[in-house]
Amino acid sequence: MTDTLTIDGSFGEGGGQIIRSALGLSLVTGRAFAIDKIRAGRKKPGLMRQHLTAVLAAAEIGRAEVEGAEIGSRRLAFWPGEVVPGDYRFSVGTAGSTTLVLQTVLPALLIADGPSNLTLEGGTHNPFAPPLDFLARSYLPLVERMGPTVTATLERPGFYPAGGGRFDVQVRPAGSLGPLTLNERGEITAKRVRAMVANLPRHIAECECRTIAKKTGWDEACFCVDEVRSAGPGNVVMIELESQHVTEVFTGFGKIGVKAEHVASGTLNAARRYIKAGAPVGEYLADQIMLPMAIGAWQGTGGGEFHTFGLSMHAKTHLEIIERFLGVRTEAVQLGRDDWQVRIADCGMKNEE
Ligand code: AMP
Repeated sequence: MTDTLTIDGSFGEGGGQIIRSALGLSLVTGRAFAIDKIRAGRKKPGLMRQHLTAVLAAAEIGRAEVEGAEIGSRRLAFWPGEVVPGDYRFSVGTAGSTTLVLQTVLPALLIADGPSNLTLEGGTHNPFAPPLDFLARSYLPLVERMGPTVTATLERPGFYPAGGGRFDVQVRPAGSLGPLTLNERGEITAKRVRAMVANLPRHIAECECRTIAKKTGWDEACFCVDEVRSAGPGNVVMIELESQHVTEVFTGFGKIGVKAEHVASGTLNAARRYIKAGAPVGEYLADQIMLPMAIGAWQGTGGGEFHTFGLSMHAKTHLEIIERFLGVRTEAVQLGRDDWQVRIADCGMKNEE
């Protein structure tokens, strides 16, 4: 497969995910792509700084040639070269999400022929992106079940709008990714609530913990208030639910004009919806974990299946781009109101049926 894949950047969910996954999968497969109508339906269409950082990071790691790597660009062409693992530093330069930059380059590094050490600078806890804690506690442990070892260590959190956060990642790759099956959640074995404030009064975080404690009756030992140093103000509350087979993290962000009680209640509602639904994989984890699973399927060593309680437009778009790049078979079947099963398999499976 050496021809250039042409992608309409406005299809499906039409956001940054299409660009990031195309970059990641281009590095994995060695297949060039061109994408136009980038983020066409968004308020500020085209590449934003965070996407541009992802493009440049992918180009650096994959020794790629690129056209259209500019802020505001609506068209991008990418010709990957050889993926070179090693030591890299990527800085978004604003509060843009560093975790999304990591997710762009990580797939190729998971199966590279040597270890990598990355430092990422920018936002680490951003709305509409995976917070670092989600990556470290929920996503990466699942990636590790497929074979590689990946550790992410927060050096300093970065919040919108000041940014200035930093984290380090160590990747010990596995040549190929093994299968993952996550059909059961099992019992919830631990609950942790962490409310973080930077350059804001401690009582905001205390109020968030108190609100959740009052509504749930969870033991005092479940709660932690963290005053952290950061370049600017920030507040985030995270509810971590550890179950027998998976850990999920639900996040809420403090905003000017929104009461801490509201931030806490909204986050708790998301966690409660997950508890009630019973499926192991939440909405965000679903759209993220399908990528390494699909790479495993493409390699003929992995793939697998999971249950989730709702399949977002984001996840459906992601499945489509995965199929186009990898030619693997993906299937999402709704089994009940809050129960979807997603299966990802290499084409060998198709032939067996
Ligand atoms: P996009 O909207 O295309 O830029 O993609 C955003 C990505 O961030 C998706 O993969 C989401 O699953 C992920 N995401 C957004 N919010 C959260 C959250 N609170 N926790 C974990 N992941 C998130």
